[in-house]
Amino acid sequence: MQTLTRTAAIAEQALAWRAQGLRVGFVPTMGFLHRGHTSLMELARPRCDKLVVSIFVNPLQFGVNEDLDRYPRDPEGDAAKCRAAGVDVLFVPDDFYPPDHSTRVRVEGLSEGLCGTSRPVFFEGITTVVARLFGVVQPTVTVFGEKDYQQLAIIRRMVRDLALPIEVLGGPLIRDDDGLALSSRNAYLSPAQRARALSLHRALFAMAAAEERDAAALIALGRSILDVDTFDYLEIRDAVTLAPLETVDRPARALVGCWIGGTRLIDNVAIERPWT
Ligand code: AMP
Repeated sequence: MQTLTRTAAIAEQALAWRAQGLRVGFVPTMGFLHRGHTSLMELARPRCDKLVVSIFVNPLQFGVNEDLDRYPRDPEGDAAKCRAAGVDVLFVPDDFYPPDHSTRVRVEGLSEGLCGTSRPVFFEGITTVVARLFGVVQPTVTVFGEKDYQQLAIIRRMVRDLALPIEVLGGPLIRDDDGLALSSRNAYLSPAQRARALSLHRALFAMAAAEERDAAALIALGRSILDVDTFDYLEIRDAVTLAPLETVDRPARALVGCWIGGTRLIDNVAIERPWT
């Protein structure tokens, strides 16, 4: 595995691969890697000839009071995990944006609501960094996790709208043994906070298991189970379009965002019913 820190170096490598007709797979991350990230690499690996993983804590997607400066890091552990997952190039840029970079990419509609309500700069930061990463890495196929379900929908829309010749795959949400959705930010949780964080998936799974089809009743059920410090949202959306649903009469997704102490947590589950 090669580690590249210069943006021009990975761009040159990617061009050479593409000129040889090779399929390039790409998994963008912010590092502090866990099984959720490596599961995406495992999905990509058989679908490409060369696999690139990026680690870049993107300043554009952090709000002023968010955790950019204390975002957890583990460069050596991350490199070992990437090597074990068969990654060809680990891209850890130290010169990613040109100093006078001024272009922003924004996907309207889908970027509003859910996580976009309390984090207004968030998705524009993500689509801007991912668009530039795509330009540099020129992937044939890219994999994003369903853990960030709204982000996955936004990336699919951006790729379609900009006619980028990239296949976008979604990887299933990976959980810890106790059910907590794996996240780099779980490292911030004290044992007591972590115990309360389990209420997120408990609430979502109770909603998924209930006979009820009325979204408001399902949300009330979920809220009665959530044990968090700051509630952000708990919603049921169409699984494909992310349109809000009043009645669960088609494949849907229950999504939650909230804070425990200073840690922001998100989770989601599929809501499946007999649709007749
Ligand atoms: P991040 O490093 O948090 O920006 O995440 C990088 C990629 O890993 C994104 O596509 C996430 O959706 C995905 N990811 C993070 N956690 C999980 C998880 N628990 N299960 C599946 N994918 C995940």
